[in-house]
Amino acid sequence: MDEPAAKSAAHLATPAMAFNTRCVHGGDARNPSGHVSPPICLSTAFVLPDPEIGARRAADVSSDEFYGRWGSRNAREFESLIASLEEADEAVAAASGLAIIGTIAQTFLRHGDHCIASYDSYAEVRILLQDLAERGGIEITFVRSTDTQNFANALRPNTRLIFTETPANPTLNLVDIQALANLSRAAGCLLVVDSTFASPVNQQPLAWGADIVVHSATKYLGGHSDAVAGVCAGSAALMAQVRHSFSFHGPHLDPFTAWLLCRGVRTLHLRVRQQNANALHLARFLEAHAAVAQVMYPGLSSHPQYRLAQQQMRGGGGMVCFSLKGGRDAALALLDNLRLIKMAVSLGGVSSTLTHPGSMTHNLLSPAERALAGIDEGLLRFSVGIEEAVDLERDLAQGLNGR
Ligand SMILES: *Cc1c(COP(=O)(O)O)cnc(C)c1O
Repeated sequence: MDEPAAKSAAHLATPAMAFNTRCVHGGDARNPSGHVSPPICLSTAFVLPDPEIGARRAADVSSDEFYGRWGSRNAREFESLIASLEEADEAVAAASGLAIIGTIAQTFLRHGDHCIASYDSYAEVRILLQDLAERGGIEITFVRSTDTQNFANALRPNTRLIFTETPANPTLNLVDIQALANLSRAAGCLLVVDSTFASPVNQQPLAWGADIVVHSATKYLGGHSDAVAGVCAGSAALMAQVRHSFSFHGPHLDPFTAWLLCRGVRTLHLRVRQQNANALHLARFLEAHAAVAQVMYPGLSSHPQYRLAQQQMRGGGGMVCFSLKGGRDAALALLDNLRLIKMAVSLGGVSSTLTHPGSMTHNLLSPAERALAGIDEGLLRFSVGIEEAVDLERDLAQGLNGR
């Protein structure tokens, strides 16, 4: 066998270990090097021991010892880490969240197929799917995702894929994964769930019956705002199909980024636990503040789907959305007044950031599309970091009162 060391370490990645332990050790089987911190392997080609092994690796796109576009050792370590956290057979990582979502769409949707997605999907995902529909002869129906019945009503005989996101960006609407999985299984189509906002700490879509879970690893998995990547996980059969089209489309994850992601995931459980606690604290603070019109947070009992959140999620996550009574002007003024909390897009990092989706992340959508996605002009999206909650609260208080 090629990899005796990897084989002997395979037991380390078993789901029997606690989640926290798997964050640290879930990729160990892919790091047979003996280094506690795995080396970065930059080589794009590998010496083939003999022609037979060369031919075998050439026929196996999952090999990490053949050619760089198929993936590096570091990318494989990250993939096995995520497979371990999601309790999936396998994972496939790519150069961005969009790259892996695009690869999934290209893998499973063919000319004439129908796909159902939600209005409040990540804006660029919506644009990607619309583009596929226009160029690729694929039909897309967008639905309101909070009611499973809307998906049922949209089903057609040629529906091949249901793509959804929970909690949704930026509305924090939830999808009942189990109900949707029952529906999609009965209809014979695939359910893909973007679980970026929850991270594997707070939600496991595969355990509720989803076929594929997707993450923008740029967010919580990397966690330090310094790596762009995406990853999906699911059964060996589905991942083999994704990997096959991946190896030809080429959205490869570079070794250094994969290394940064593995480093990030080792503290995922600690970071997200702190973010859950901070976000709940600040959501309560905002809800009680006179200048605030509405707060959306899955961990607040005022969330319209609070019961579903309690059932499906282990924590409310680090994302809070709120709107101010003063609308857009007040929202922009708050962004300007903050000192500690940074005005920035993206999310899931250790630093708290605040975004105005209407002008910053969802500006590519038309006003009508924004309205359908539930984004009003006064909405703010708060990515709560791992700072001490009292410091964040003080910054928000001075920002809100200073207007
Ligand atoms: C950021 C994000 C994406 C896209 O990921 P990239 O890494 O930016 O390509 C997809 N879905 C959600 C929910 C996101 O937050």
